[in-house]
Amino acid sequence: MSLRKKLIAGNWKMNKTAADGAALVADIVAEVGKQNDVEVVVCPPFTALESAAAKLDGSTIKLGAQNVHPEPSGAYTGEISAGMLRSLFVSHVILGHSERRTYFGETDAFINQKVLASLKAQLKPILCVGETLAEREAGTTLKVVQTQLEAGLEGVSKDLATSVIIAYEPVWAIGTGKVATTEQAQEVHAFIRSLLVKLFGDAVAQKVRILYGGSMKPANAPELLAQKDIDGGLIGGASLESRSFVELVNAAAAAK
Ligand code: PEP
Repeated sequence: MSLRKKLIAGNWKMNKTAADGAALVADIVAEVGKQNDVEVVVCPPFTALESAAAKLDGSTIKLGAQNVHPEPSGAYTGEISAGMLRSLFVSHVILGHSERRTYFGETDAFINQKVLASLKAQLKPILCVGETLAEREAGTTLKVVQTQLEAGLEGVSKDLATSVIIAYEPVWAIGTGKVATTEQAQEVHAFIRSLLVKLFGDAVAQKVRILYGGSMKPANAPELLAQKDIDGGLIGGASLESRSFVELVNAAAAAK
């Protein structure tokens, strides 16, 4: 029996207005808003957080953001702090997504500051790691993942480590329709778990959820979610429509 409850998180990226987001959340709540078998998190853009929160009220579904700034307040034009997110009932935050690393130049050190600031504010970080196609072809996948993971988690205490969720997202599989094979994904997930054992000890490592992300869809989810170290999914495209997202939640509930 796994110590880890499966988790399905939807990363809406830069999609949905406040009104469209509220409608999507209402549909998801109607289908899976009362179940407790799977932890479900939706991560709308900042501008749809408030309207989504209103629809999530009274459901088991949690609210996540897609970014946070490490400082609590100040002269950081265009940025949002952890406290601001908490005031909108946000409980999770996606950090280190490959799109932020690639398009916004986010470094491991900066991502680490965000992880620490999030934990201090009682936000649960969903820390994304993953290799590019060139890195996979060069045989450096595990090295890349190790560097991102260790740097991202630097300074995280054993006590707070179970609040962190890791998402393994091979960059070449994000939004491309190319999904990692179950063997490729499980290999990296098991490697991440072994790194967590070294960092925090076995008892903690067995409690940390490691999600797979990269073109996860209802058709490929059951096989991925059946793997020993795959504890759920971070879902991009398939989270933008209630039917596919709900099917993924149901697939996670059915996975042993
Ligand atoms: C993502 O961006 O986190 C993601 C996994 O996207 P997609 O499911 O569309 O590949």
